[in-house]
Amino acid sequence: MKTKAAVLSAMGQPVPYGQSLPLTIEDVTLDGPGAGEVLVEIAAAGLCHSDLSVINGSRPRPMPMIIGHEASGIVRDTGPGVAGLAAGDHVVFSYVPMCGRCLPCSEGRPAMCENGAQANLTGTLLSGSRHFHRADGSPIHHHLGVSSYAQFTVAAQESLIKIEDNLPLEIAALFGCAVMTGVGAVVNTARVAPGQSVAVFGLGGVGMSALMGARAAGAWPIVAVDLLESKLNLAGQFGATHLVNAAQVDAVQAVRDLTHGGAQFAFESVGNEKVLAQAFAASRRGGTTVTIGLPHPSKNLSVPAVTLVAEERTIKGSYMGSAVPRRDVPRFIALYQAGLLPVDRLLSRTIPLEEINPAFDALDRGEVLRQVIQYT
Ligand SMILES: [Zn+2]
Ligand SMILES: [Zn+2]
Repeated sequence: MKTKAAVLSAMGQPVPYGQSLPLTIEDVTLDGPGAGEVLVEIAAAGLCHSDLSVINGSRPRPMPMIIGHEASGIVRDTGPGVAGLAAGDHVVFSYVPMCGRCLPCSEGRPAMCENGAQANLTGTLLSGSRHFHRADGSPIHHHLGVSSYAQFTVAAQESLIKIEDNLPLEIAALFGCAVMTGVGAVVNTARVAPGQSVAVFGLGGVGMSALMGARAAGAWPIVAVDLLESKLNLAGQFGATHLVNAAQVDAVQAVRDLTHGGAQFAFESVGNEKVLAQAFAASRRGGTTVTIGLPHPSKNLSVPAVTLVAEERTIKGSYMGSAVPRRDVPRFIALYQAGLLPVDRLLSRTIPLEEINPAFDALDRGEVLRQVIQYT
């Protein structure tokens, strides 16, 4: 079949993207689902900083590629051997397909799935196949098994979580990355308990979700740190109890003062090693620093080594919120519907696919939390 898609042909085009137009709207060919695969009509697709990282080249991927990894949609067809999904089902995408057989999957850590990571690295589905082609027959790579900047996509059944039909699909999409990553970092990776102190550095969609997770977990205080007053003005709605503008004050000292000696849990969601070092410095003796952002692969982190021993400090990475998507997407949706996770406040605006390039400029400038492409 043919489908409309935004194709990224080369990384590292100059900003503003509204002028350099790194994503081109094309009619591409989409092969139908193979064994264990599902044809999904995308309903809503979020614009995430990790997509921006592919566009600007700090997260290198094989080109050309149809990016987009935070999405919801409706199942339209299933290949042989698909279980538990049928045409008409509403689904949220998980950006790591979970094979269920490798060592991390066997240990209950599907976010670390080795076969899923290999497929994501090479830009294929879990089966190793590619389904998108240009008119000349040349293949286009998949992004994290999702490729949601296309009206239709094919995904492995291991990339899909069935959800109830009563959730608006533009809200449902946000559970696939921002919420799973940010809330998951707090409740799965860090396991924050009531009354423990939290600081969140960087207030994009993931950082705001970490605030929501901290509030739902009963953390106190919850300190939000950012350079932009506009982001800090929103942070209270997501659960922040104290605000620190890092452009105006020493953020490390401010967090240490507000938490009486340092946060028990410091989260970094910028993807910048200098901010990660600040988060570590703002954590207290015995504290844990959780890094959620994705720095460029060439960047290193330097910390005083003795603090890991003498102060029992911990640094943990959190990928996809250490989530078990089939457990966590339904439970986080339930918390949203109960009024405990204000996920709808992440949605800055909805846009058509044709506005994708300038919309990435708005994300790059920090003007928005989540913009969601709607196809109908
Ligand atoms: Zn994302
Ligand atoms: Zn696996």
